[in-house]
Amino acid sequence: MGPTVPFGSSTKLLPPKFSLAAAAAFLACIGCSTPPVAPPEIPRKALARPGPSGYNRLIFAGDVMLSRGVRKAIVAACDSALPFRKIAPLTSAADIAFVNLESPFSDTGPYHEGGLVFHAAPEMISGLQLAGIAIASTANNHSRDCGSHGVDYTISWLRSHGITPVGSSESEQATHGGVILERHGIRFGFLGYTYDQQNGNWRDIDRRIALADPAVVADDVSSLRKRADIVIVSMHNGIEYMPRPSQKQIDFAHAAVDAGATLVIGHHPHVVQPEEHYRDGLIFYSLGNFVFDQYQREATQQGELVEVAFLGKRIIAEHTFRVRITPTGPELE
Ligand SMILES: [Zn+2]
Repeated sequence: MGPTVPFGSSTKLLPPKFSLAAAAAFLACIGCSTPPVAPPEIPRKALARPGPSGYNRLIFAGDVMLSRGVRKAIVAACDSALPFRKIAPLTSAADIAFVNLESPFSDTGPYHEGGLVFHAAPEMISGLQLAGIAIASTANNHSRDCGSHGVDYTISWLRSHGITPVGSSESEQATHGGVILERHGIRFGFLGYTYDQQNGNWRDIDRRIALADPAVVADDVSSLRKRADIVIVSMHNGIEYMPRPSQKQIDFAHAAVDAGATLVIGHHPHVVQPEEHYRDGLIFYSLGNFVFDQYQREATQQGELVEVAFLGKRIIAEHTFRVRITPTGPELE
């Protein structure tokens, strides 16, 4: 019983921060008798195509929700990295891989089988590690689903596993300053925003989570451009299940590009929306779902992975992969 263990279970394969003991405790606590599957360490450098200096391939995916039906599938398989196993060879080969983390991590609080309050078990970070995720948006309408503690915990849990959060941090100032990931001599600056952070559960605003305001993103992009070669803006915005972007999405994305952003990466509608070449920028209004449990509609079971290749500060290629969202994770169509 249990999942196939394609990469063996030697502790030598463990990424440095992954705790086999913690995973074992998690699986024991959910009734699994099989040993936990250690996430393999994929030699990223070996998979990445060698390129000229300043050549980088970035890959972007949409909403990752590790609660509810996704948690159920993980528990059934006794594999905390299950949703990422099929797609990891592609994402982990990128110089930078990005997702929107729609479920906060927390070490306290209940797990709901249904409803709209999400909670990712700490051990499920092994899936993000397996997929080679370097940066995750933590600004979305579910950012506060595990309360103020969940906001803090998610930021520090991601960082302690080598994943940079964007869109929330320990202070409003730090959030709006953005983050920079340097690859092959190029500084990629990231900012993240959400249209809403209350989701009907809160009345106040948590200033640590950036709200999507065209004037604010314009200021933030202008400031970050002074420290970064490329600015990329994550945008959690739009209307669920709508195939076209709303005026709010368009206004926000255009403001980001007008201020100097090269890429705007949209998510939240749960369906794929068009891309737009606008001035010197490239806008993906919605990449749709990536890891989610919405099987009620055909469109919510299709997502996009976008790969953008840079030579220095210039985009030299883009490629869109269609992915099918299945109960065991996304797979290429
Ligand atoms: Zn959302």
